[in-house]
Amino acid sequence: MEAYLDHAATTPINPAALRAQVEATELVGNPSGSHRMARVAKSLLESSREDVAALLGVTAYDVIFTSGGTEADNLAIFGATSVGKVAITSAIEHHAVLESMNAIGGRVVGVTASGGVDLDELESVLKSESERVAIVSVMMANNETGVIQPLAEVRELVKRHSPSALLHTDAVQAPSYLDVAGLASGFDLVSISGHKFGGPKGIGVLVARKAASLKAMFHGGGQERELRSGTPNLAGAAAMAAALRDAVEGRKGTVERVGRLTEKLRAGLFANVAGVVPNGAESPQMCNISNYCFDGLNSEEILFLLDSRGVYASAGSSCASGALNPSHVLIAMGKSESQASGSLRLSLGVTTTEAEVNYAIDVISDVVIELSRKKGVSWI
Ligand code: PLP
Repeated sequence: MEAYLDHAATTPINPAALRAQVEATELVGNPSGSHRMARVAKSLLESSREDVAALLGVTAYDVIFTSGGTEADNLAIFGATSVGKVAITSAIEHHAVLESMNAIGGRVVGVTASGGVDLDELESVLKSESERVAIVSVMMANNETGVIQPLAEVRELVKRHSPSALLHTDAVQAPSYLDVAGLASGFDLVSISGHKFGGPKGIGVLVARKAASLKAMFHGGGQERELRSGTPNLAGAAAMAAALRDAVEGRKGTVERVGRLTEKLRAGLFANVAGVVPNGAESPQMCNISNYCFDGLNSEEILFLLDSRGVYASAGSSCASGALNPSHVLIAMGKSESQASGSLRLSLGVTTTEAEVNYAIDVISDVVIELSRKKGVSWI
């Protein structure tokens, strides 16, 4: 038996997306060319763009295809800032945002103990920087805790104190579970990534509203409104559009089913393990992600034992080498190093079954109880 509880890292490909990807891969033409084969490819690229736009509640003009969430975040941040201007973000963003902000000396606002951006601190930074603010980037929902961020309040503060600033949200985790169009209303820039909702890896979108003036990061043939030169990933765009359709149209059912499974998982762990502490549970959370601390245990050891028994999960933020650092998200929420080093993120998805959840409850409970006995951790 195996249980894949790492859908926030990436999701299995959706069958309709796979079909669309194969069909588009068979097309020969380059969408930027002018002969008939090129026009066929161009027509598929533009219909994929229209589909994505309709599903996100924006116009086709607003949709810029990128290589994924990381590139969309980078384009938003580097594209919006210039010398002498200020960029603001929250301490719990994905590294794609945080490292981009670090590179330009952006200001980082803290979060509350329950994992939402600290609106008082954001307001005081906005007040002090006022018209100098070029961009404010706050994610839609956090990829480690699932905590949904107060975007309406963020928008209201930015409009009040820095009305000329661009608003960006990284909505990469959201499309299968949240109403991206509604929550991002009034935002100029929105990032999504195909592989987080059943699409292929290596394709994403930056929604860039007409009024948001951005600088390109890639220069070349001028594709994607001259914001993202390079031959577009046609098969990826077609597949992502198909996956997004299923994600958005199936959202109501997904939320109900995945929410019930997450609740079952949570209740099972609480019933079996005395020392489990949930993270972010006092805030509104996405229905597929739950995050726990097992104080005194080590995430890497937990994950290794889970892996050996076919349960696949994650903790903290893994870097390219696969090494684990204590989660910057949990640290920002005020957890100690020791608590953050013993955390576990369980993320379910559209394909998760009841049998996987039952198996995971048994294995996770066994593993953390065994490790806590070995280490003499007192909560048992
Ligand atoms: N933003 C968030 C919130 C994410 O969870 C991820 C992926 O983990 C990314 C951005 C990066 O997306 P991609 O893997 O498509 O580059």
